[in-house]
Amino acid sequence: MILPETLESALQDNTKLVSIMFANNEIGTIQPIKYLASICKKKNIKFHTDAVQAVGHIKIDVKDLGIDMLSASAHKFNGPKGIGFLYVKKGTNLPAFVHGGAQEKNKRGGTENIASIMGMAKALEINTNNLESNQAKLKNMQKKLIDNILLIEETILTGHPNLRTPGSASFCFKGIEGESILLNLDALGICASSGSACTSGSLDPSHVLLAIGLSHEVAHGSLRITLGVNNTMKDVDYIISVLPPIVKKLRAMSPIWNK
Ligand SMILES: *Cc1c(COP(=O)(O)O)cnc(C)c1O
Repeated sequence: MILPETLESALQDNTKLVSIMFANNEIGTIQPIKYLASICKKKNIKFHTDAVQAVGHIKIDVKDLGIDMLSASAHKFNGPKGIGFLYVKKGTNLPAFVHGGAQEKNKRGGTENIASIMGMAKALEINTNNLESNQAKLKNMQKKLIDNILLIEETILTGHPNLRTPGSASFCFKGIEGESILLNLDALGICASSGSACTSGSLDPSHVLLAIGLSHEVAHGSLRITLGVNNTMKDVDYIISVLPPIVKKLRAMSPIWNK
């Protein structure tokens, strides 16, 4: 989590804008946005949050949290791909980022993609209407998944134990590589991830895992499982039955696992 004093010491006299992820895409940790935004407000600095992991999954009240700008992406809440939105608080002086037309109050020239916008609005409406029951369902599955995976020896949960997005479960398994776990899970019909989709072409360990203090070796053994509302407890039972033997098998072949 971002400590208030870390943010305060990063602010300079000429800082105009602070942008902090609402919830992390790799480890699910939810940041203390209200507090961080209030630090910026006191210094008259605009506060933006990348809430792509949070919108549609947890309750967000931009006014209560003191957010000036917030961005979201539809496909992260079961909407169409290729569409998102930026919330901008009234009175925020934001220059156009696509020039040439008066659309979107002169901020984004070009004809609006109505079909995608409607799809996004509908998906958000469905998610918002079912937010509490979805959260309860996801947290239930998340707890069972995390509790059981942590029974595997030399395994750690990455990210905050409680303040994390419902459904997100991320781990590091010592002595093995996340990529090999993924291949094994994929063969059994389980889609998971090791790190972030944006850096999937890179063999470097995740900057997020290094930033929370893990060593390169440990960070290489990362696995991220995200449950959605269409998953069931049966899926969770399946994962927790197949993952321990995969980890065991990979460790038996691993040159850096010596137990
Ligand atoms: C997925 C994601 C993005 C990128 O959004 P796309 O619409 O997929 O390009 C940005 N920030 C966070 C936190 C994300 O999870």
